[in-house]
Amino acid sequence: KDFRNNIKPNWCPGCGDFSVQAAIQKACAANGLEPDELAVITGIGCSGRLSGYIKSYGFHSTHGRSLPVAQGVKMANDDLTVIASGGDGDGFAIGMGHTVHALKRNIDITYIVMDNQVYGLTKGQTSPSSGKGFVTKTTPEGSKENPIQPIRTALASGATFVAQSVSSDIKQLTAIIQQAMDHKGFSFINVFSPCVTYNKVNTYDWFKENLIPVEDIEDFDHTDAKNAMQNVMEYDGLLKGIIYHDQEAKSYQENIEGYLDQPLIKKEMTLENDTFDELMAEFR
Ligand code: SF4
Ligand code: MG
Repeated sequence: KDFRNNIKPNWCPGCGDFSVQAAIQKACAANGLEPDELAVITGIGCSGRLSGYIKSYGFHSTHGRSLPVAQGVKMANDDLTVIASGGDGDGFAIGMGHTVHALKRNIDITYIVMDNQVYGLTKGQTSPSSGKGFVTKTTPEGSKENPIQPIRTALASGATFVAQSVSSDIKQLTAIIQQAMDHKGFSFINVFSPCVTYNKVNTYDWFKENLIPVEDIEDFDHTDAKNAMQNVMEYDGLLKGIIYHDQEAKSYQENIEGYLDQPLIKKEMTLENDTFDELMAEFR
């Protein structure tokens, strides 16, 4: 099982996205998937190129729209393992409406955000997750806004699986992606994936110094949403590991009676010709 194809990524040398790609490929192999059992759907941004770099079904969608496409793919063909992916600009700015609704809807897919706290593809503008004071050409005096809080947002939106990691820790990231794919519901993984070209603040070293593994926090309980939220607030979102996992929750598909017995792709399309003609007549 090899999820590599012969396309060479054109990310900058050292970009965090390389490791995210490797972790996804390792996790899929470790979970025993075959390339034709996987669909990777991405949005726009440097990270959006990922769908072309993994041997699987793929769809490079429009800006901020990976989640509607990914959810549609999964609802049509439940046999596929579906991964949606994109950057912080893609998922937390133009796509934020979809992100929140996907979190609450709980369709059984995995969403991986490569969060580098900057717009990389368009050459370095302030993004929704850029820190206060972050200087770019769009905020020459430093950003005056508070950054978006992805983990708090996920928990507040009713997420059933929430994790955070950093691309320098491929081992942890791979293990998290494996568990996310096994989770029956929507899995949200925020991965700090440094942009070595346009973000000189949130570097590999910065994350090494500032992220706290949840295992190091006494009484941390990832099965308890209240405990998770309290710790996320206390540590300003800078946690690393599985932050919340509700193993009892039912996925969207499980909540529709009979759906999993016969997803769309297995349904017989029985539109009679005269029904079709009647339907068309209404538009004439
Ligand atoms: Fe990666 Fe930044 Fe280069 Fe884009 S601009 S490929 S995010 S290092
Ligand atoms: Mg970005």
